[in-house]
Amino acid sequence: MSAFGSVFMPEMAITWFDGSQWSEPEVVPSDSLQLHPGAHVLHYSSTCFEGLKAFRHEDGSVKVFRMDRNIRRLAQSSELLALPSFDEDMLEAMTRDILTRFKSEVPAPPGSMYIRPTHIGTEPIIGKAAVPSLTSCLYVLLSPVGDYFTGGDKPLRVLLDDKGMRCPPHMGMVKSGGNYASALQPIMKARAEHQADQVLFCPGGDVQETGAANFLLIDGNEVITKALDSSFLHGVTRDSILTLARDMGMDVQERELTIDELLERSARPGCEAALSGTAAVLTSVGTLIHNGQEYQVGNGGIGETTVKLRTALNNIQWGKADDKHGWLETI
Ligand SMILES: *Cc1c(COP(=O)(O)O)cnc(C)c1O
Repeated sequence: MSAFGSVFMPEMAITWFDGSQWSEPEVVPSDSLQLHPGAHVLHYSSTCFEGLKAFRHEDGSVKVFRMDRNIRRLAQSSELLALPSFDEDMLEAMTRDILTRFKSEVPAPPGSMYIRPTHIGTEPIIGKAAVPSLTSCLYVLLSPVGDYFTGGDKPLRVLLDDKGMRCPPHMGMVKSGGNYASALQPIMKARAEHQADQVLFCPGGDVQETGAANFLLIDGNEVITKALDSSFLHGVTRDSILTLARDMGMDVQERELTIDELLERSARPGCEAALSGTAAVLTSVGTLIHNGQEYQVGNGGIGETTVKLRTALNNIQWGKADDKHGWLETI
């Protein structure tokens, strides 16, 4: 089994903005991209991307999950990075086109086709350190992925970091490479020093998110997660899981959660914690690490409600449950 995101479909959809207009979208080989070594993105990180999935249903049809949300978010990331704006319908058409071409390659559940739209600043100018790129390139890569939990569904060890930040607060809503680069050192340090899988950034004690996933505390019938503000990434999975939790009659609280409350609740039997994101949907957090001390969440294992919520979302994605919120679009 190859690593997540290491296999690509041989072609991608692409369009270039020349400073005044977008080129007619094309389908080109996906193994190379010609850029000037002085391209803005390579020096000043004018880059953003998306991650969404298409699923094969039993009747052979292929459905994309909440594509409108991801396209909207890429447009928003582009705006916050001062990249040229693009027509959201154009990106939807490019995504549909490339998916239609590789429809037969969309893996059956629990696999899926991971879709990676990417927008980069291409202007060949190293003098624009504080000026946006006038030109850009937008492309859509496809990567077939297998079962995320092939190696087993293991509860994660998560380090709470109340000193650092994932990224500067005004960059929180941008899905951009720069933010991942910023989170890399803290994550590597947490792995080396605490055998942690992830770092949960909690600036000033405010429980925010990890490097690439949102955080949810599930305590009995309550689901608690940080309310939307501009300091963190508004996950589509987060929104979907909260919607399903409300459907199940759970008490969903989008509000401030402090480290103190998190650790206090975690000690209660039956308490669960989870990370949400497109790749894995929902993964259990079994252990929290804070100031050199380890805190087991509930029984420290895989959360029952976590699995129930993940299954509910998977069932919709896989066509095994009614898509009553209209999240799936046919390709
Ligand atoms: C992509 C991402 C998420 C998860 O978003 P989904 O839309 O659920 O995949 C959460 N946090 C960060 C920082 C991300 O980059």
